[in-house]
Amino acid sequence: MARLNCVTVLAPAKLNLALDVVGLLPSGYHDLDMTMQAITLYERVVLRRSPYLNLRLPGSLVAPNNKNTAIKAALAFFDYTGLLAGVDITIYKNTPVRAGMAGGSADAAAVLVGMNELYGARLSMSELCALGAKIGADVPFALMGGTCRVQGVGDFLKALPPVPECWFTVVMPDYGVSTPEAFAAYDRVGSSVHPDCGAQEAAIRAGDLDALCAAAGNALEECSGAKDTGAIKTLLREHGAVTALMTGSGAAVFGVFRDEGAARAAAQAAKRRWKQVYVAQPDRGGARVSR
Ligand code: ATP
Repeated sequence: MARLNCVTVLAPAKLNLALDVVGLLPSGYHDLDMTMQAITLYERVVLRRSPYLNLRLPGSLVAPNNKNTAIKAALAFFDYTGLLAGVDITIYKNTPVRAGMAGGSADAAAVLVGMNELYGARLSMSELCALGAKIGADVPFALMGGTCRVQGVGDFLKALPPVPECWFTVVMPDYGVSTPEAFAAYDRVGSSVHPDCGAQEAAIRAGDLDALCAAAGNALEECSGAKDTGAIKTLLREHGAVTALMTGSGAAVFGVFRDEGAARAAAQAAKRRWKQVYVAQPDRGGARVSR
């Protein structure tokens, strides 16, 4: 087989169809129960062979330093495989930052998948997930993609059947939310919202969009104090969203729509007030090489 010099990977962003905090683990981390959904909004990551380790993020304010998830992923890959090489990484970011959409995790997943291909390392999905889990809690899901019930700190993943056809309109306010701060706020004030992830899993298995939406909710939403959440939810509902909620630790808020027209009309209306607005559908995969 010809030696590969360049690989492009697409890595979907995610939405939380449900997020519940069910307790505290002995490690001090929160024990979560979530439904995660990959969506058709992609980070595009180009990897080239190089003797050096380089990272560029054209047009993004995210710093290309050693704290970047992409660099952490490349170093973890070299450490695990023992490969003596470098890699040149370019990330075209399409996912808003500090949105609760796991863009940073998608970048790490993309680097792991891309380097596996570029260097023919043949690491299995479970090896990639184990490497990814050390970089960030959402990286294993970013590798698996599709629809998953995710528990623990993000390390217990169960693949679910695809959700019924639907559309998402996602609105990112002009501010982001820090995930550690969101959990600290939860510890202070708690939540009256505890979605039933078991009922949502049953709804997904039954292909029932109404029941899926009835079971949707986010235990971090009330305490996040994100000032635009209520206004975005109202706008999405007024435009026909079956349900609307915050994703992850915020700040992005999304609506679930039965049809594309309503989702796009909601997006048009949202664009009058917010700059970052996206229309997407469920994606059935995770980070993958683009052929
Ligand atoms: P999550 O749902 O996983 O909490 P998020 O959408 O809230 O994700 P990200 O945008 O993935 O958060 O990352 C948030 C922070 O992580 C940023 O403030 C940034 O400094 C840091 N970071 C490190 N690497 C990356 C990356 N490749 N892309 C985006 N942010 C990154």
